[in-house]
Amino acid sequence: MNIAKKFRRRYLVKGGIHPAPMKSTASFVIAPGPAPDGVIIPLTQHVGAQCEPIVEVGERVLVGQKIGDSGEFLSAPVHSSISGEVTGFVRHPHPYGHEVLSIQIASDGKFELSPGVEPKGDPFEMSPEEIRKIIREGGIVGLGGATFPTHVKISPVQGKQIDTLILNGAECEPYLTGDHRLLLEKTREVIQGGLILKRAVNAREVVVAIESNKKDAIEMAQEVGGELGVEVISLPSRYPMGAEKTLIKTVLGREVPSGGLPMDVGALVDNIGTCYAIHELFYKGMPLVERVLTVQGDGIAGHANLRVRIGTLVHDVVEFCGGMVGKPGKLIIGGPMMGLAQHTTSVPVIKGTTGIIVFRGETFFSREPAHFVCIRCGRCVRRCPMNLMPYAFGAFADMSMWQKLDECHIDDCVECGCCAYVCPTKNPLVQLVKVGKEGVVRYRKKMGSYQEED
Ligand code: SF4
Ligand code: SF4
Repeated sequence: MNIAKKFRRRYLVKGGIHPAPMKSTASFVIAPGPAPDGVIIPLTQHVGAQCEPIVEVGERVLVGQKIGDSGEFLSAPVHSSISGEVTGFVRHPHPYGHEVLSIQIASDGKFELSPGVEPKGDPFEMSPEEIRKIIREGGIVGLGGATFPTHVKISPVQGKQIDTLILNGAECEPYLTGDHRLLLEKTREVIQGGLILKRAVNAREVVVAIESNKKDAIEMAQEVGGELGVEVISLPSRYPMGAEKTLIKTVLGREVPSGGLPMDVGALVDNIGTCYAIHELFYKGMPLVERVLTVQGDGIAGHANLRVRIGTLVHDVVEFCGGMVGKPGKLIIGGPMMGLAQHTTSVPVIKGTTGIIVFRGETFFSREPAHFVCIRCGRCVRRCPMNLMPYAFGAFADMSMWQKLDECHIDDCVECGCCAYVCPTKNPLVQLVKVGKEGVVRYRKKMGSYQEED
């Protein structure tokens, strides 16, 4: 089946917005990041159970050595990104906004590799189970920001077959260009990583989906994809094209049901950075110890796409890029639409860190009103790509009406921020959704309908 040909006839999903792309780093070649004197590696960098340390204070560790793991299925181990000495287990500020048990390592400046870092053999001679096991041991999670453990995502579920794997090259968030650069500089590696996933889930087809504003990446992917039997699709350039459900609907014309997963409609979506990490794991033996991220914004002197070791403090990355400019106004980890504002630069880069964006004080101003004020204009509904009612989420969350929020399918909100972007009264709709989702979990627990995830 030629998906690219079928795609031309597809119905495009409604909603979405066109924020200014601000992708001036798209032409910046990926460069090595700082060589830190030490790292702070959180034991939670993924969806699922926290890892436990498997090293001792005072122990020497090497690059790629596993230092934390969990017996739970929904989890992913963590590895040292430098060689040096474990100096402590500390509760340290985390980009997700709380303190997390983390392993502190002082560098010996040698960056010596663990003996376990060696090629894993030909993945195309391996069984799906062997591939999953290696991916789990490599600590691979979704690098688009979701950080869902990849071995869980590709584990078989009875009665569900994945026929199409979509490599998500949309990178629709303003400012971020790391995936774009990977598609240009590591095209073959990214697609080979995707083909390993294809084998793991026994999919029929692999499609690389890239937004039309990345013409050079589309051309490169078409050239390499043509050799490797992979199709490339040019997507309309619109935020949030990279959201899983939006992408599946756009590429395959299939609707993931409310509360469902992509595999319910025979699809699997994986990020470009994740595919590259899988390639590095199989062909070089390197677990997930570094990632590509974008540094941008008018509040920082140097802009770049950097390969940064996990656990490097944001402060060290900022200094490496020439430091802050003027009075800092806002520091965001991730993109400006879905990223998280930080109160300190002492948070570490983690597996899900797609970008470090700094705005000056003069640029950034608060958009939020003191109270929820809705004039029923309906703009948020028209722009919501998930066909939801954001104004209702805002009103019900503001009044702590958790049951109503549950009935309105608040769980289907992907927190893309399109509603808040267009709201004329500047309601903090995404923050209210986050509050609402927490309230719904408490409500379900109280009503006895909440089930802990396996
Ligand atoms: S309700 Fe959720 S999914 Fe819909 S626009 Fe707002 S943040 Fe995005
Ligand atoms: S965009 Fe804002 S003001 Fe308009 S309906 Fe939605 S919440 Fe209300």
